[in-house]
Amino acid sequence: MVRKVLVLEDEASIRGFIEINLTRAGYEVIEAETGEEALEKLRDNADIRVALLDIMLPGIDGFEVCRRIRATNTRIGIIMLTARSQEMDKVTGLMTGADDYVTKPFSPAELTARVDALFRRAGGAAPEQVGEIRQEPFLLNTRNRTLEKNGQRVKLTQVEYSIMKMFMENPGKALSREEILDTVWGRDYFGEVKIVDVNIRRLRLKIEDNAQNPTYINTVWGYGYKWGF
Ligand code: CA
Repeated sequence: MVRKVLVLEDEASIRGFIEINLTRAGYEVIEAETGEEALEKLRDNADIRVALLDIMLPGIDGFEVCRRIRATNTRIGIIMLTARSQEMDKVTGLMTGADDYVTKPFSPAELTARVDALFRRAGGAAPEQVGEIRQEPFLLNTRNRTLEKNGQRVKLTQVEYSIMKMFMENPGKALSREEILDTVWGRDYFGEVKIVDVNIRRLRLKIEDNAQNPTYINTVWGYGYKWGF
């Protein structure tokens, strides 16, 4: 199976570094220098499973590229390439629909581990046996990996879907951030638990009646979250 990754980065040296390392790890790398070019290459290569997006670019920036990808594609895995000086970019990137971020400068091992983890989630896994989990007003279809609320489809990213599945399989149970991180991102994930909070914040906006006063995803202070009824 061809494992295609899109790399959007305007700096040739960084793009080359990523290309060499991902190729060595067995990926086919599709390169783009601008956001416009990246969107075009995504249209031409429907089988790209993971995209790495730099943020500071000539023309449209990485956040806008992420938004435009997510408008039509919830399955692709998206990793933002952020600079160390841009702490807020991580959160902004995740709020625009990214699954993960890597801070420059990063090591080849870190980069490859992140891409591997996302690649496994972004559609690599075999379809599951059990068809659906119903907890009114929610219906989670584990075959199509979709969620409905009151019969209406809620568009989720793969990460959001995995979190919802974990919640719905564990109703009423307090889940620690670390537990969620291990289950959803994998034990080999290098990142910080903060990523859990950011994804939950985004998920609440999608599934709660009022995200300011959540009733489904409850915070367990100092610990994690509980799928509560
Ligand atoms: Ca750049």
